[in-house]
Amino acid sequence: MKALEKLSIGAGDRFGHQGLAQLRAAIMAREKGADVAVVWNKSNREHNLIGTEPADVRREADQAVKTLGWKGGYYVDADHIGLGNVDRFLDASDFFTLDVADFTGEKADAGAIDAFVRKYGRFEGRLAIPGIEKPLQVSKEAIRAVAEKYLLAAQEAGKIYRYVESKKGRGSFVTEVSMDETDLPQTPDEMIFILAAIADEGIPAQTIAPKFTGRFNKGVDYVGDVRQFEKEFDEDLCVIAWAVKELGLPDNLKLSVHSGSDKFSIYAGMRRALKARNAGVHLKTAGTTWIEELIGLAEAGGEGLAIARDCYRIALGRFEELRKPYATVIDVDPSKLPNIKEVDGWSGKEFAEALRHDQGCPRYNMHFRQLLHISFKVAAEMGKRYLSALEDHAEVIARNVTSNLFERHMQKIFLD
Ligand SMILES: [Zn+2]
Repeated sequence: MKALEKLSIGAGDRFGHQGLAQLRAAIMAREKGADVAVVWNKSNREHNLIGTEPADVRREADQAVKTLGWKGGYYVDADHIGLGNVDRFLDASDFFTLDVADFTGEKADAGAIDAFVRKYGRFEGRLAIPGIEKPLQVSKEAIRAVAEKYLLAAQEAGKIYRYVESKKGRGSFVTEVSMDETDLPQTPDEMIFILAAIADEGIPAQTIAPKFTGRFNKGVDYVGDVRQFEKEFDEDLCVIAWAVKELGLPDNLKLSVHSGSDKFSIYAGMRRALKARNAGVHLKTAGTTWIEELIGLAEAGGEGLAIARDCYRIALGRFEELRKPYATVIDVDPSKLPNIKEVDGWSGKEFAEALRHDQGCPRYNMHFRQLLHISFKVAAEMGKRYLSALEDHAEVIARNVTSNLFERHMQKIFLD
């Protein structure tokens, strides 16, 4: 079976130019002792907004690996796919993130729910999960509630999984099940029965992406109760270790944290829990590599800075349109966005400082950053102008991409 390594990072790359710079960060992590696998992920939505194909991501990944002589694991992730769009990804991908968020909350048929409640009645009562301080109290009603909310989603995941398996062959790809884009977080108690439903479907899930407590906005820090998060994250790790044994799921099953980049305030807690439980994690970054491109272009000055300013000017004028697909995962306060005149007066350094995620820098502006994060479509529409600038200023951009991924992310989650 293609088995995902214990530590892995999901490196989105909107324009497909930073594969080398991203892989360099993984090489740095390896040199320091963290055996990280790199997963290049791109969703159907991103392919559509940018006008790329999964084969482009495969080419980029293979090329970077060949150029740098990378011996570690690497994958191409069909991110957030469903039955309606998976075909496009079959050839190029060896990692499939089955997105069943749309099916959560819809009920499976009554007979299936009854059968599930009967089968897992064996966990009713006092359930001790090693590592979790207090034994859980599981009621039949609670099992039924999870079944009503998640069984249909698990069944749908099973359909997608079996379809991919029929096309690619068993064991030839990594499977992730994601429910992160739902309204409500999934608690560790619910996770037990969600994993049971996934096991019943015969899905050899190697990663599971729940929705965690708190807000995981794109490209900015975590918003929520940091201690509550750490507790739930730790309990999820315990539930997963238990589920591997009790439910027969793959023994490398681990959590996947979506929109996981830039969540600086929870990294220390995650690291503590991972260490204490000797557990692995998949950290999916939120496509922020593209922001590093803009930072590099701004720093380059001249035409690079002009492009960065133009992206902002256009994005500001199209705020509502750009916001729409990301409405639930950003929090932009329009009153905190700098006006065009102001931004046009900024030097490249000032532009970069407003955009770079350095909370210690007084110029950093999270609203500015989030708006630009969701505006890659604007750069895509610039076409050749943007892509040539990436090539003209490749060095300064790559420096930003690599250091962001290594210093602000891998170092903190995999090494500190
Ligand atoms: Zn996601």
